[in-house]
Amino acid sequence: MNSKADIVIVGSGVAGLFCALNLPERCRVVILTKDRLERSDSYLAQGGICVAQGESDYESFYEDTMRAGHYQNDPAAVSLMIESSRSVIEDLVSFGTDFARQGGNLLCTREGGHSRPRIVYHQDITGREVMTRLIARVKERSNIEIHEYETMVDLLVEQAECRGVISRGTDGRLRLWQADSTVLACGGVGGLFEFSTNYRHITGDAIAIALEHGIATERVDAVQMHPTTFYDPSSSRCLLISESVRGEGAHLLNERGERFTDELAPRDVVTAAIRAEMERTGTDHVYLAMQHLGEEVIRSHFPNIYESCRQRGIDVLTQPIPVVPAQHYLMGGIKVDLDSQTSMARLYAIGETSCNGVHGANRLASNSLLESLVFARRAARRIGASHRTQIEKRGSGSLALPDFEKYQEDSLMERYHRTVREKMGEQLHAI
Ligand SMILES: Cc1cc2nc3c(=O)[nH]c(=O)nc-3n(C[C@H](O)[C@H](O)[C@H](O)COP(=O)(O)OP(=O)(O)OC[C@H]3O[C@@H](n4cnc5c(N)ncnc54)[C@H](O)[C@@H]3O)c2cc1C
Repeated sequence: MNSKADIVIVGSGVAGLFCALNLPERCRVVILTKDRLERSDSYLAQGGICVAQGESDYESFYEDTMRAGHYQNDPAAVSLMIESSRSVIEDLVSFGTDFARQGGNLLCTREGGHSRPRIVYHQDITGREVMTRLIARVKERSNIEIHEYETMVDLLVEQAECRGVISRGTDGRLRLWQADSTVLACGGVGGLFEFSTNYRHITGDAIAIALEHGIATERVDAVQMHPTTFYDPSSSRCLLISESVRGEGAHLLNERGERFTDELAPRDVVTAAIRAEMERTGTDHVYLAMQHLGEEVIRSHFPNIYESCRQRGIDVLTQPIPVVPAQHYLMGGIKVDLDSQTSMARLYAIGETSCNGVHGANRLASNSLLESLVFARRAARRIGASHRTQIEKRGSGSLALPDFEKYQEDSLMERYHRTVREKMGEQLHAI
C-alpha cells in the first residue's frame, strides 16, 4: 500500500500528538504508532510538568536545570524551554487538562533538584490526564488520521532528503507513507533494558534507523536511572514511585530504618547514594517511607501509588516501600536544532527520541514532558511555515520504490535493537 500525506508523525506520545495539534489544519497529517494509541510512556507519567513561576523564577529554574545537567546543557535550549513553559501549560488547559488547583490557581509540587515548587500535576496520574485530553482533541480533527499497530521499519530517503517512512502492520504487510515532512516521536530506549519504568515496546527504533542513515545523533548512551522504583525482581517493567513523593517529604531508609542521603538531590546523585548504601549494607534494595505524610495527603495526591503498592502487598499508610533504581529516561538521541530539525532535510525529531541539549548529562525531574511539548510545538510551527514552499518545490516527482524484501525479515528489528544496545553497553543490566 502506498499513501501520501503532507506530514507523517511516527509515535503517539505527548510529543507526537501535541505536534499534530499544532500543525495547520489545512495539512493532511498521518500518525503511525506501534501499539495502541494510549500505550506510550507519556501516558504513564506521574509527577507532573515544570512551569516557571513568573519572571522571578526564571533564574532559579534555569540554574536548577543546568545544575542537574552538570552544566552540559545547551543554554539556548534551556532558556527557550523555560520561556515557553507557561504558554504550553495554557495550551494544555485549553485542551481540557485538569491540573490541581486551589482557589482557581494552579497548585505546584516539588521534586528532587528543584529549589522551589514549580510542578503542575493531576494527582499522581498527570500523564494519563494530559494524554486523555490530547487523544480526544486529535480524534476530533478531520485532518489527522491515526494508524495503530503500524511499526516504522525505515525511512524513505531520496537524494539525501526524507520523503516519508515504511511501516509494517501486525498482518506483516508493508506500507509506504510518502510525506513532505516526517516527524520522529518514538520515545526512548527503556524496552531494551532488563529493568525499566518504560513500556517494553519503546525500543529506540528511530535512533537505530537514524544511525543506519548516518543522521547525526548525540549522547545516545546518556541514560538516566530513576532512584525509586518498586523492588520486584520478577518484573521487567518497574512501577515508578514518583519523585514528588520525596518532594512532599518522604524519606529514604536503609534496612535499619536510618536515613542515608538528601532525598531532594538530583536523580543521579540520589541513585548513586542508593547504590552505595545497597553495596555497604549488602542488600538489593532500600526503602521509601511516606507514612508520615499522613493519610489525607497520600490519598488525595498519590491515590495511584497507594493502590499500586497495595496490589503488591504494601500498605503505604503503615509500611515503607521497598525501592531500587531502574532505567527511566534517555537524555541523548537524534540531534536536532531548536526547531527540532535533524541533520537530514525534511526530517524532524521530537520528545525523548531527540536531543536538543536541554537536559545535558542528567535531566531535572519533570522537565521531560515540558521539553517534549515546547519543542514539538516549535517543530509544528516550523513545518507549517515551510509547508507551502515544499509543495512548490516538490513537483510531480515519483519516488523510486525501495527493496521491500529486506523489510520482510523479522531479524530487521532485532538488528536495530542490537545497534542501540551496543551503544548502551553494560548499563543494560544495571540496577
Ligand atoms: C513511569 C514514567 C513516569 C514518568 N513521569 C514523568 C513526569 O512526571 N514528568 C515528566 O516530565 N516526565 C515523566 N516521564 C518521562 C516522560 O513521560 C517521557 O519522557 C515522555 O512522555 C516522552 O514522550 P514521547 O512523546 O517522546 O514518547 P512516548 O510517550 O514514549 O511515546 C513514544 C511513541 O512512539 C511509538 N513508537 C515507538 N517506536 C515506534 C515505531 N518503530 N513505529 C511506530 N511507533 C513507534 C510508541 O508506540 C509511542 O506511541 C515519565 C516516564 C515514565 C516511564
